[in-house]
Amino acid sequence: MKFKTDSKLLPEIKKYGNFDTNACLQCGSCTISCELVNEQSSFPRKIIRYSLLGLKRQLKSSLDPWLCYYCGDCSNTCPRQTEPGEAMMTVRRYLTAQYDWTGLSAKIYKSKYWEIGSLLFFALVVLGLVVYYHLVNVELDYESFITTPMPMQHMFGLISTFTTVVFLIPLFFILTFGLRMYWFTMKNYDSPKVAPYYYLVELKTFFLQIFVQKRFKDCSVKNRWIKHLLLATGCGIMMCVKFFFLQWFQTDEIYPVYHPQRWIGYFCFGALLYTSIEILVSRIRKKEEIHKFSRSSDLVFPILLLLTALSGIAVHVFRYLGMELTTHFAYAIHLAIVVPMLIIEIPFGKLSHMLYRPLAIYLQKVKERALQIEINKESILENV
Ligand code: SF4
Ligand code: SF4
Repeated sequence: MKFKTDSKLLPEIKKYGNFDTNACLQCGSCTISCELVNEQSSFPRKIIRYSLLGLKRQLKSSLDPWLCYYCGDCSNTCPRQTEPGEAMMTVRRYLTAQYDWTGLSAKIYKSKYWEIGSLLFFALVVLGLVVYYHLVNVELDYESFITTPMPMQHMFGLISTFTTVVFLIPLFFILTFGLRMYWFTMKNYDSPKVAPYYYLVELKTFFLQIFVQKRFKDCSVKNRWIKHLLLATGCGIMMCVKFFFLQWFQTDEIYPVYHPQRWIGYFCFGALLYTSIEILVSRIRKKEEIHKFSRSSDLVFPILLLLTALSGIAVHVFRYLGMELTTHFAYAIHLAIVVPMLIIEIPFGKLSHMLYRPLAIYLQKVKERALQIEINKESILENV
C-alpha cells in the first residue's frame, strides 16, 4: 500500500490549537494510560504519528479523535509534556473544518474575530427584522412609546415565520457535514465491507450516545458524565420546546406555579446556568488538565449559554412583574442571542461535537461488527 504524505498537514493542524508534539518519542505511554482505547481503536499516539508524518488521508478517515473524551490522563502520563490530550482536541477542531464544505468552521476555529463577527452579524439581522416587523405590522403610539403596553405576543407573527428557518438552516448544514464525515471514514481505502443491515442494527448505539451521552460514563473523570447529560438535556429540551411548542411555552399568560410550562422553563434555566458557569469557572481557574488550554471557541459557547439563560429568565421576571414593554425588549435581546447561537454554534462551532461524537461511536461499532464478521468468515475458511 502506498502512503501519500502532505508536508502542509502539521502546520495546518497547529493553526487549530496547541499541537506541540515535536518532542514526542512515540513511547506509547499515552495510549497505555487511556481507559477508552481497545483493540480496534488505539490513540492518541497513532493520531499524533499520522499528523507528524503528514498522513492526511489516514487522519481524515479516522474516527479515533472523536472516541477520546478528553480526560487528560494521557497528558499527565506523557514523559515529554507534549500534551497529547490537547493534541487530540486540536485534531478534532481540524476535522470539524474538514467535514464542513462551506469553510466557515475553519475560519471560526482559526480566528476569534470570525466567530464573534458571525454571531454579531446574525444578532444584528435579528434586531433588524424585529424593528422592520414592528414598523410594518404594529401600530405604535410614538407619543407614549414608553408607556405603550407591548407584551411578547406582538412578536409571535415574526417568530412563527422564522423559527422553522432558524432551526432548518443549521440542521441542513450539520446533516451534510455528518454525511461527509461518514464518507471520509466509512468509504475510504481501508474500510471493511459493511452490509446496510449493520447500520440498522447499531442505530441504538447512536441514540444511546446522543441522548444519554453514555461513553462519558467510561471516562476516568466520573462527574463529567452528569454535567454533560445535564447540558445535553437542558439544550435538547429547550430546542424541542422552542421548535414544536413555542407559543405554548413563551406566552404572555402567567401560568400557575405548578404548571409544567413553568417547571420545564426552570429546569432548562437551571441546567444552562449551572453548566455554563461551571465551564467558565473551570476554564478560568485552569486547575484540571482539560482546562489548561482554552481557545476563544471554548469560551464563546458557554458565554452564549449563560446569556441565553439570563435573558430567558429576565423575560420571565419582567412578564411576572407586569412590565410589558420591558418584557418585549428583553425578549428581542433574548432572540438576538439565541438565534445566532443556533445558526453558528450547531453546525460550525462547539455544539457540532454533540453530533460528531455519537456518530463516530456509532460508525465505529458498525466497523467493528463488519470486521468481526470478516474475521469469523476467514477462520471458518481456514478450518475447512
Ligand atoms: S506519551 Fe508523550 S512522548 Fe510518549 S507517545 Fe504519547 S505523546 Fe509521545
Ligand atoms: S484525553 Fe483521556 S480519553 Fe483522550 S486520549 Fe487522553 S487519556 Fe484517552
